[in-house]
Amino acid sequence: MQENTQHAFDPDALARDNQKLRARLRMLTGEAAHNAVLLKRTQDRELSLLGADTLPQILRALVEGLKESYGLEAVTLVLLDPQHEVRHLLASDGAEAFTHVQFVDSLAGLAPQLTGLHRPWLGPYEPADHQSLFAGDRLRSIALIPLPRGDRLTGVLCFGCSDPARFTRYHATDFLSHLGALAAICLENATNRARLIRAGITDFLTGWHNRRYLQQRLKEEISRAQRRQASVACLMLDIDHFKDVNDGFGHLAGDNALKEVTHRVETQIRSMDTAARFGGDELAIVLPETSAADAARLGERIRQAVAARPVRLTVQAERSLTLSIGVSAIAPARQESDLKALADHLLADADAALYRAKTLGRNRVHCTGG
Ligand code: GH3
Ligand code: MG
Repeated sequence: MQENTQHAFDPDALARDNQKLRARLRMLTGEAAHNAVLLKRTQDRELSLLGADTLPQILRALVEGLKESYGLEAVTLVLLDPQHEVRHLLASDGAEAFTHVQFVDSLAGLAPQLTGLHRPWLGPYEPADHQSLFAGDRLRSIALIPLPRGDRLTGVLCFGCSDPARFTRYHATDFLSHLGALAAICLENATNRARLIRAGITDFLTGWHNRRYLQQRLKEEISRAQRRQASVACLMLDIDHFKDVNDGFGHLAGDNALKEVTHRVETQIRSMDTAARFGGDELAIVLPETSAADAARLGERIRQAVAARPVRLTVQAERSLTLSIGVSAIAPARQESDLKALADHLLADADAALYRAKTLGRNRVHCTGG
């Protein structure tokens, strides 16, 4: 105060004060702009997490998105998946492998210090403790952010940086706690969505797709085939005298037989083919880019794989089973626009061929028009 009074009539001192105030104002304006950028970036990050509604999207947003947005050397994710459910959901989605995501049955096996992680841990990278979390990265400081759901820990998001001052125990962690909580909610959301979708399109007993899914998929395959001028084929399979298995050995033995037969069929088909349980003991397989002749050859291989050796029904009982198989195909030239009609036609033709295989004596492959 006294100093200001003394300088009140000193133009040089006033100019100096003015300069100082201007510099301070510039700094505050700069800080405000910087904070606005940080806030915007935080909001963008949160929106990208909230906007990801499939498992692959949220995993990408967490690992690749946050790495880029924070400018970090490494971001990895450890997810607790004791029932292997998330892994199955991802695999059935045909998702790529996520190299920076580790699925573990328990945290104790991977890094025991993570089991009691309730708040973000920031500090130096210690290879002995942390290399199981960041494979092969040259890091100096890290942040381990718990992903909590209720009182459970569902995983840990791991940030790694080559700057030793980036994450230290003196940094505030509230903001990272918030990020972890948000990430955990988004992951649960995407997992629930994947569960729902899967439950609606999967047959419980065999794990194959159900009829609804096949009918939808068939239209997509026909449309794709039309664009590529390719053919699509369909196999309709039915177990011969399956009722005898149920009647003779019980319903559970019948279930076991169904699972074993579908498993043997699976070994013969390609990943691009779509296999579905059409209902009861009837199965359907859609074969993209396959002619009727090739489909018939595949049908024959499937028939042999099932007939080759007895199927286990119970611990004590096994029995030889056979399949009757109907084959139909849409030729590449067929360009009708009514996809549903084409799909229904393909299925009806395969069904008619199957019926013919049954009436001709079963345990055989029959082609439409053949
Ligand atoms: P066909 O050679 O003419 O096909 O004779 P089939 O005895 O196999 O006759 P059909 O295909 O008509 O009968 C299928 C039987 O499959 C009838 C039903 O009791 C049984 N089934 C349907 N779904 C299930 C199931 O989920 N589990 C068991 N165990 N049996 C089932
Ligand atoms: Mg049958």
